[in-house]
Amino acid sequence: MGIQFDDMEERLVTASLSHDDEAEVSLRPHTLLDYMGQEKAKESLKVYIEAARGRREPLDHVLLYGPPGLGKTTLAGVIAHEMGVNIRVTSGPAIEKAGDIAALLTNLSEHDILFVDEIHRLNRAVEEVLYPAMEDYAVDIILGKGPSARSIRLDLPRFTLIGATTRAGQLTAPLRDRFGVILRLELYTPEELLQILRRSASILDISLEAGGAAEIARRSRGTPRIANRILRRVRDFAQVRADGVITKSVADAALSMLEIDRVGLDAVDRRMLTAIVRNFSGGPVGLDTLAASIGEESITLEDVYEPFLLQLGFINRTPRGRCVTRLACEHLGVPYVGQEPGVFPYGGQEKIELP
Ligand code: ADP
Repeated sequence: MGIQFDDMEERLVTASLSHDDEAEVSLRPHTLLDYMGQEKAKESLKVYIEAARGRREPLDHVLLYGPPGLGKTTLAGVIAHEMGVNIRVTSGPAIEKAGDIAALLTNLSEHDILFVDEIHRLNRAVEEVLYPAMEDYAVDIILGKGPSARSIRLDLPRFTLIGATTRAGQLTAPLRDRFGVILRLELYTPEELLQILRRSASILDISLEAGGAAEIARRSRGTPRIANRILRRVRDFAQVRADGVITKSVADAALSMLEIDRVGLDAVDRRMLTAIVRNFSGGPVGLDTLAASIGEESITLEDVYEPFLLQLGFINRTPRGRCVTRLACEHLGVPYVGQEPGVFPYGGQEKIELP
């Protein structure tokens, strides 16, 4: 398997699980203790879990949102473990008909968790089954067609729905309102990623030196899935090009080979930033226009790339679109094309050569 940034399947920074993430399953923590970072979310959850357990009630419905790979699915599993209940995992696009969701719901046991990934992609008919299910633990089933159709109400076990989405704003209001707990997952700090990498290295039996771990942590765009993915790629590199030990210099060489620069930007990040500078005079530029100019989908830019660039302070979001910052220009080694009113040193059109 080669490492190819032009091929969506092989990108290190993808929105979704790829085949090589099967190994990821073994790295998923099962307890809140092993679930690193996300202190705010964990703090609230601890209280809600303890309270629900104390009352012998199911946990309130939980909505988790945040960029891909931050641990939403993992956290749902952790919640199930901490509650001592079963979890059924499915995703928005996989549930096609009202009957599919009704079948899932009626097969749950008391207090079970139903985890729906990409919950913003549920269709309307399915969503409408969820409303009474979430509110009254019941589903209305229509029997027959036409004038003779009648509806019967089936009681459901008292369950917990955990929904995950990349953006809470994509959910319809009636669905969002039915979640009692809404938690936003944040990008991880390099220190938190360092702990995750140490744990993964010990599970996978990888020799990871402190300097090597710090290098990977710093260049994994705040995302555990990416950190674990890079760890496995760097391990291959260490095995073939070094003596199997991931030192700082081995990690650095491997990351450079993967075209991940010293702050963690990959080829797409750099294309995005240079396009704003080169084609749009530093911005502001609308997301769709920017996406079209670099041949990416705007949703990918917004969900996968932008959060990290915002965290680094490399772009600003303004009502009129995205702008690069002075920091980004310094990093790219190009003159800052300011957004100060009236200052467009490149005349808006002129192309400048970028590294
Ligand atoms: P999401 O559902 O948000 O896309 P996942 O839950 O699939 O993300 O997480 C991706 C991988 O990252 C998991 O398999 C797990 O190994 C790792 N991971 C995520 N969050 C954490 C965490 N807080 N602590 C340790 N590992 C984590």
